[in-house]
Amino acid sequence: MHQKPDADAMGSALGLACYLRQLGHSVTVVSPTNWAPWLNWMPGADAVLNYDKEREKARAALSEAALLFCLDFNIFHRTKNFEQDLYQAQCIKVLIDHHREPDLPSFNFGISDTRKSSTCEMVYDFILAAGDASMLNREISACLYAGLIADTGSFRFDATTPAVHRMAAHLMEQGIRHTEIHSLLFDNFLENRLRFMGHVFLHRLEFFYEYNTALIAIPKYDILKYEIKTGDTEGLVNFPLSVQGIKLAALVIDREEERKWSFRSKDHFDCNTFARTYFNGGGHFNASGGGSKDSLQDTVDKFKAALKENEHLLQ
Ligand code: 5GP
Ligand code: MN
Repeated sequence: MHQKPDADAMGSALGLACYLRQLGHSVTVVSPTNWAPWLNWMPGADAVLNYDKEREKARAALSEAALLFCLDFNIFHRTKNFEQDLYQAQCIKVLIDHHREPDLPSFNFGISDTRKSSTCEMVYDFILAAGDASMLNREISACLYAGLIADTGSFRFDATTPAVHRMAAHLMEQGIRHTEIHSLLFDNFLENRLRFMGHVFLHRLEFFYEYNTALIAIPKYDILKYEIKTGDTEGLVNFPLSVQGIKLAALVIDREEERKWSFRSKDHFDCNTFARTYFNGGGHFNASGGGSKDSLQDTVDKFKAALKENEHLLQ
């Protein structure tokens, strides 16, 4: 899975792992980095290796592996420090992903299908295509449902097809508690995160109505003051899109290693191309991310210049 895994990355990996174990395989799930604590309820999460902390164990698992499944990313640099090990691994590499512009030469088999709502939907398709629908149990279903609702914005984004709803129905038939899963993902923060959001909306949110754009720029100081941890800023970038007319929302956070960007759009603005062109990133048409080594002020200035260049696309 990609670094700082979200519910789709973690859910697809754990759902697939549970299925493969039923087939008799020995499976190790590795995350390149730590993850938000509100993913820990997922069945199997307690055994996931964090590469940053358990490098030798992860390397040993990789060197013994016959098959490597790469889930919810399509280019090795999305796995941060794990990148070189993955390039060098001698096993068969299988890609299951739904992001744009996959680095296909890195993989032996696989699919990167941008029409798919989520990697969890693709793992579901994979299990059904193998003729193993009867192996979908409550554990697999809970993992896959979590990724499905996370990546479809609880069934509201464009990729929410009839097939997505049929899959959700099928998972519900396995006895998952869908209300509880929704709560575990979205109502599982601490007070500091809500106070932080109040502060951010009051002091760090700027509108550029001439470009139908909003920007949230968060300095390091805020992260320290509000004790913001991995996962606490998830979803924050979506809020400015609730304002009439806003077509592009951007969020930049001053992190230790880099200034991390997130982009979300409505309608016809291509966030993938924008992130790729200006911020060394990528992702989906309406949701992408990137990074910058510039200072917060410099990267914000670059963003403003990019808005000017994209004025015609933001009308
Ligand atoms: P988020 O804003 O939630 O971090 O990311 C939005 C989407 O863009 C996710 O699907 C994520 O995998 C992808 N993404 C985020 N950051 C990057 C990046 O630096 N490079 C690429 N290629 N994709 C990214
Ligand atoms: Mn995904």
